[in-house]
Amino acid sequence: MHQHANLYIDGRWRPPEGGAQKDVVDPYTQMPFARVAMGGSAADVDDAVMAARRAFGPFSTTSVSDRMALIDRIIAAYEERVDEIAAIMAQEVGIPVSARAQATGPIGHMKVARDLLASYAFESHIDDTIIRREPIGVCALITPWNWPIQTPVIKAIYAIAAGCTMVLKPSDASSICGVILAEIFAKAGTPDGVFNLVIGRGSVVGAAMSSHPEVDMISFTGSTSAGAKVGEAAAQSIKRVSLELGGKSANIVLQDADLEKAARWNIHRCFFNAGQSCHAPSRMLVHKDRMAEVSAYLTDEAARYRLGDPRDPGTTMGPVVNLAQHDSIQRYIETGIAEGATLACGGAGRPDDQPTGYFVKPTVFTDVAPGMTISREEIFGPVLAVVPYGSEAEALEIANDSPYGLGGYVFGSDRTRAYAFASGLRAGRICFNGAATNSVTPMGGYKQSGIGRSMGSVGLEEYLEIKSVYGFDEEAATLPAFS
Ligand code: NAD
Repeated sequence: MHQHANLYIDGRWRPPEGGAQKDVVDPYTQMPFARVAMGGSAADVDDAVMAARRAFGPFSTTSVSDRMALIDRIIAAYEERVDEIAAIMAQEVGIPVSARAQATGPIGHMKVARDLLASYAFESHIDDTIIRREPIGVCALITPWNWPIQTPVIKAIYAIAAGCTMVLKPSDASSICGVILAEIFAKAGTPDGVFNLVIGRGSVVGAAMSSHPEVDMISFTGSTSAGAKVGEAAAQSIKRVSLELGGKSANIVLQDADLEKAARWNIHRCFFNAGQSCHAPSRMLVHKDRMAEVSAYLTDEAARYRLGDPRDPGTTMGPVVNLAQHDSIQRYIETGIAEGATLACGGAGRPDDQPTGYFVKPTVFTDVAPGMTISREEIFGPVLAVVPYGSEAEALEIANDSPYGLGGYVFGSDRTRAYAFASGLRAGRICFNGAATNSVTPMGGYKQSGIGRSMGSVGLEEYLEIKSVYGFDEEAATLPAFS
């Protein structure tokens, strides 16, 4: 058994107060393979936050070039461990090693943040007023398990770019990924206290971070219900709160679209990461006359998935992260059947060829009414709900009739018409005909999918305060630059 018994606080590894640990279970073998520390008390959080507070003064005044150099060293230390990271994500979370982007993606994000620093104007002028953008302070970073390395990397690297210090709490379902990240930041020579790691339960460690008076900003990614609790706790000390939450994104296939292309793309975007993806197009809206046709394409594409050991490079869908997630998805599938949706493929229960592992059969429901549970709630598994529409006006209404507003997808051949349709979608990221997203543009959601945006210059500004300085206009040219 591997042991990861320590937290990383103020540049040193130490066990949590009380020394609590827990087993980590491999979702493929269903056997424990490691033990990790559980930061069981608010005292651990307090230590980490106060270390970040002490480090903030010196780190907030480092030069942009020093921070760029630090990010370069973090990239180099990360690159040395990419294969190991892919292997750990397979064992801890069940992510197939074939999903290489999970391990390599963070490198691109770090380079974007580094390059942004070279051109970002931390200081500007409006008339004779100096406008300074300054690091907001100590940041609490709380992350989920579905992108177990990339989400923490994006948060931490933008916080560093801004000159902030931080405490990271990864999901307790992906704590080892957090430990590796702390080792990478340490290896890169990140000054003591700038990056701290506390692992443990959200209701204990996450809650203590959210209410700590010395935390200035919280960047949270996770479920909408936990995000609401974070916001509530943070409100007591008026922290800035950035929330990336759940989704139930719709892919609307307009009547002039290439239906086969849209269907095959939808399966891949929805079932990537075994459906454990916040932007998954988990609702597909198709004209009611084309249900049978789309069902055939979707069933054919879903059948191409190869389930198996995530360490096998031929595996394209691993198990879901743990028993609780598995059981929750199974309940949604049973509910879909009970509420009268048509099961096109998949269904409840274990796939016949998988004797172990928290596997879910790739499942497609057609003829899903907009009010059904599987059309409204985030399932976070490989389950697609295909909803028929009669007119495009109705399609827009169905797409927007959701508490969420994270992603939106449109397929069509008349670009002008599709653009007009897409403009009506209340969601933070819209892709036309399967267009790829990128790392320099803002990511985030409307409505209950979140507050704020990550990535690029807008993402950097989440970690910056704005100061207007009056009366120094004449000296402005001779004052020391912000950094
Ligand atoms: P989760 O909400 O259960 O946990 C997320 C993190 O919050 C974990 O670190 C957890 O320990 C912590 N947490 C839980 N309760 C807390 C509390 N009361 N106070 C503070 N912290 C608390 O989510 P999950 O199951 O780990 O991840 C899946 C969810 O994340 C899905 O809803 C998914 O859509 C969402 N997600 C959103 C995005 C996005 O960019 N919008 C990206 C990835 C995942």
